[in-house]
Amino acid sequence: MFDVVIVGSGPAGLGAAIYAKRAMLDAVVIEKAGYSGGQIINTDDVDNYLGLSGISGYDMAMSFREHADKLDVLFKDVEVTNIAEETGGYRLSTSGGDDILTKTVILATGANHSKLNVTGEDKYTGKGVSYCATCDGAFYRGKEVAVIGGGDVALEDALYLSKIASKVYLVHRRDELRGAKSLQDKVFAADNIEFVKDTVVEAINGEIKVTDIDVLNVKSKEACKIKVDGVFIAVGMKPNTEFVNGFVDMDEKGYIKALEDGITSRAGIFVAGDARTKNLRQVITAVADGANCVASVEKYLNLL
Ligand code: NAP
Repeated sequence: MFDVVIVGSGPAGLGAAIYAKRAMLDAVVIEKAGYSGGQIINTDDVDNYLGLSGISGYDMAMSFREHADKLDVLFKDVEVTNIAEETGGYRLSTSGGDDILTKTVILATGANHSKLNVTGEDKYTGKGVSYCATCDGAFYRGKEVAVIGGGDVALEDALYLSKIASKVYLVHRRDELRGAKSLQDKVFAADNIEFVKDTVVEAINGEIKVTDIDVLNVKSKEACKIKVDGVFIAVGMKPNTEFVNGFVDMDEKGYIKALEDGITSRAGIFVAGDARTKNLRQVITAVADGANCVASVEKYLNLL
């Protein structure tokens, strides 16, 4: 039986892993994706992590993983499908068929992109529909694209794409953007970004690839088509917590309820990173969560 199983190998999971090794805990990191880093792997620049200004997300993920490897962190490439109580701890069912027994669990499963849930979205994913501007933007050099959403990610995506595409439509369902004022200023200053406000996307159309989107102005009720080659969807994140639904308390969006110590509603189950209820979901807060969770695990194990 492990002391702790860390589910997820993004910044929160790897942060927890190095603290667990240094605390001499018998630990394993479960990595579903087959690579470490979580969401940062798809991030162009991470410019707000102390001491590493301008590092690419990929390089940051590699350096986090190297640090874990130096400490001989044990990794297992499987998906956890269920967690159940077991005498003295928990039993984790996995996609590989083997069960894993552990005294404690740190859930560091992060979050994924939300879908827009409109006609054509699934059909054209990878054929013009993308959830990652920095991954797919280069395919749209000199072309026209739409970014859907009004948060920080949508604004960053629109700015990134404005340097590649000939025209970027920023389509947002309200007349006010949610993203940071500093990003808004840059968006409004860009010549080739058009803010399409009060507008929802009703369908993504195409033949082999995307050709246009059907949009509706929610105030004027006017419907029209916008011709685009690419649609970048940036409408927020969804936590990867379905497999523990009903097992630990969550908020209405599916984030696992916990404070900075990572303690959830169930003894011995902890949560770190973007899957936790928190104000600021960033690499630096995810790493800190991992460290805090291990401190909580140690306290808990001493009480067993
Ligand atoms: P977000 O802040 O939740 O914004 C999501 C946007 O999508 C909102 O504008 C929302 O509209 C819109 N939206 C949601 N569902 C929609 C739907 N069904 N149809 C149309 N529009 C929809 O998410 P995010 O931009 O992905 O950012 C996630 C978190 O990461 C945030 O906390 C953000 O601050 C943080 N972040 C920080 C930085 C940075 O500090 N540099 C960079 C990136 C992200 P409404 O505004 O109408 O709700």
